[in-house]
Amino acid sequence: MDYLNKLNREQREAAMCTEGPLLILAGAGSGKTSTMTHRIAYMIEEKGIDPYNILAVTFTNKAAKEMKDRVEALIGHGIPAWIMTFHSACLRILRANAEVLGYGRDFTVYDPTDQKTLMKNIIKELNIDGKRFTPAYFLGIVSKCKEKRIEWSEFTKVFGDDIKEQTAARVYEAYEKALKKNNAMDFDDLLLNAVRLFERDEAVLLRYQNRFRYIMVDEYQDTNRLQYLFVKMLAEAHDNICVVGDDDQCIYQWRGADIRNILEFEKDFKDAKVIKLEQNYRSTSTILDAAHSVISNNRGRKAKKLWTDKEAGNKIVYYRAEDERDEAYFIAGEINRMKSSDRKYSDFAILYRTNSQSRTFEEALSRRDIPYRVLGGLRYYDRKEIKDILCYMRLVVNRADDLALIRVINEPKRGVGGKTIEKLRALAAVRGESLFDTLKDEEVISSLSSKAAANIREFVEMIEAYGSEAADMKISDLYDGILVKSGYLRSLEALEEKDKFESESRIENLMEFKSVIYDYEEEDSNITLSEFMERIALLADVDNHDAGEDAVVLMTMHSAKGLEFPFVFMPGMEDGLFPGWRAFDREDGLEEERRLCYVGITRAKERLWMTSAERRTLYGKTDYTRESQFMRELDRSLIEGDAVYEKKMRSAGQGAFTDGVTESRSFKPFDQLKYARQQTKKNVEAMSTDFSAGDIVSHAKFGEGRVISCDGKIVAVEFADGVKKLALGFAPLKKL
Ligand code: ATP
Ligand code: MG
Repeated sequence: MDYLNKLNREQREAAMCTEGPLLILAGAGSGKTSTMTHRIAYMIEEKGIDPYNILAVTFTNKAAKEMKDRVEALIGHGIPAWIMTFHSACLRILRANAEVLGYGRDFTVYDPTDQKTLMKNIIKELNIDGKRFTPAYFLGIVSKCKEKRIEWSEFTKVFGDDIKEQTAARVYEAYEKALKKNNAMDFDDLLLNAVRLFERDEAVLLRYQNRFRYIMVDEYQDTNRLQYLFVKMLAEAHDNICVVGDDDQCIYQWRGADIRNILEFEKDFKDAKVIKLEQNYRSTSTILDAAHSVISNNRGRKAKKLWTDKEAGNKIVYYRAEDERDEAYFIAGEINRMKSSDRKYSDFAILYRTNSQSRTFEEALSRRDIPYRVLGGLRYYDRKEIKDILCYMRLVVNRADDLALIRVINEPKRGVGGKTIEKLRALAAVRGESLFDTLKDEEVISSLSSKAAANIREFVEMIEAYGSEAADMKISDLYDGILVKSGYLRSLEALEEKDKFESESRIENLMEFKSVIYDYEEEDSNITLSEFMERIALLADVDNHDAGEDAVVLMTMHSAKGLEFPFVFMPGMEDGLFPGWRAFDREDGLEEERRLCYVGITRAKERLWMTSAERRTLYGKTDYTRESQFMRELDRSLIEGDAVYEKKMRSAGQGAFTDGVTESRSFKPFDQLKYARQQTKKNVEAMSTDFSAGDIVSHAKFGEGRVISCDGKIVAVEFADGVKKLALGFAPLKKL
């Protein structure tokens, strides 16, 4: 029981209370998550509970991964417990039971970008005025409805029958039908359908109830109605549920989080034990006091105060910059100043209110050669070339995915223009089949121009061949194959003459993505294509591509929930930005912003900087600003004035902007890029050789074998465990 020694009395009590409902309600940095990880370790090691029976859920991939890593570090080895995000847990359950709800098992998960594309199409198809109604407007409505469980058929009954509502109802209906037809679910569907599944099929619910005898939820204050139902239904059988949260950190009400879930836990689960933690182990007392001075302005909260035995530490530095560029250069300068041999770049975090603030920091940091990583924002996976290739991969997994098909059918150019696609789509709709199936019809295809027809045949053949081979291929081989065989890589190389920069940076992104694939393969050598696609799709929400290198972290305060950093910067402390103007539209909006401020401040362990800009250009508009209301609420005695820094920076004139570095985007050395590209081609070439009977070959999965016959399309090979027929040119087969 060694590892429980590190916990304080209340934490230990919570960790050892493994049976029955338990609520841990406590402020930031009091060790809620730590208690939970110790609790899991204790259950497995001391109580002999099978990890298979444990489900622990939280909100972001980063937080989930940290939780799992911490548990495994305590135990000393990996465990099969489900420690993951809500979305991943629901997805896994749905994947195994999709047919109950009428989906195919290989359904695709649509991320926000896909949703937007789909919605755009619907707006066009229904002839709705796209200037008045944006995709985002309708998607907002749909999302709200799903979370409140209002079906499209009930929409007008609930919201009224005016033209506007009728339109929304029609859009909602079309959207739902399109998703179903494409065998796809959006993020909200994952939660909604998991709940529906449990309601519809008692046997399935029973199975999962029996499996997950021990359930834990971190950040419970941010659960919405569906998450609440999901957890409640699962926990009802055994009642072993432990939820952990802090009402002061509820920051997702705008997305449907319901603070009542945590406040009414004791009603939902009879005889719940409640444990409060009051000691903060994370921050200096200055930081803690600052957080407290802000949050205590909220009226709708349970009064509580954390204490720490840490010393006061440094005061909070406040700097009022001239404009957002000055602000960014100040922060970059401070990072340079503080960075020393025993401090990593990853000890620093810049936490802003909105993703649109990130660009200025990226520029300032790269000019000063400070490595950084942006989490969220214009997502890595939203880059055109990555998204394109992902759509090819999606199509290999789920050929009903019309959205993916439309995206790549003419990418690279195959002579299939918008008009042709429209025609084919209309035909597919009449026939009630997927677009891919329509493309397989030789009669349809031969009516096209001969060039387009030939290209489409090739395209269809490729998707089908990979469809049959994918299960036995490494994802990296498949990726190489698609890059080359689809002609995508070639088309980017052709772009080189016109626009070298564009061509190189896009190829570089594609090559970089291969290292993402390698990472996944290294972690799990048996990972299947659909599992991989799933992980990628789920990264979409708040956190993304998180390479392990040492770099300053940039993200929104929302995505920083649950994390901690020695040094934290909170820029943009201005009215209108933080709190944002829109906060005033909603009741409790300002209080929610204040809770967000509390979350931001309490991420800091040692030092905190807050900054604002007198003048700010955001969304192309320049405004003079006023210091944030939260700055005014913060206990001034904890702040070190900005005068010193102001003088230093300003006497240096605009020095910060002209420190000699011109290139803001750094490229990998060209040779390295060229090499990676050649490897990709070589890899595919090796798979594409013609074989003749008697050749000795090796297959990535089946090992060595001898070719029996080869007819130019199919190659039959005798392996140790029998004869396999493989698609020539697509299967990962190499001559020895
Ligand atoms: P948040 O509300 O931000 O999610 P939390 O309550 O989950 O915070 P943790 O992240 O678990 O808090 O812990 C905060 C820090 O305090 C961590 O660095 C953790 O290692 C440390 N800590 C927690 N409990 C103890 C303890 N008993 N002794 C020493 N350090 C502790
Ligand atoms: Mg936590």
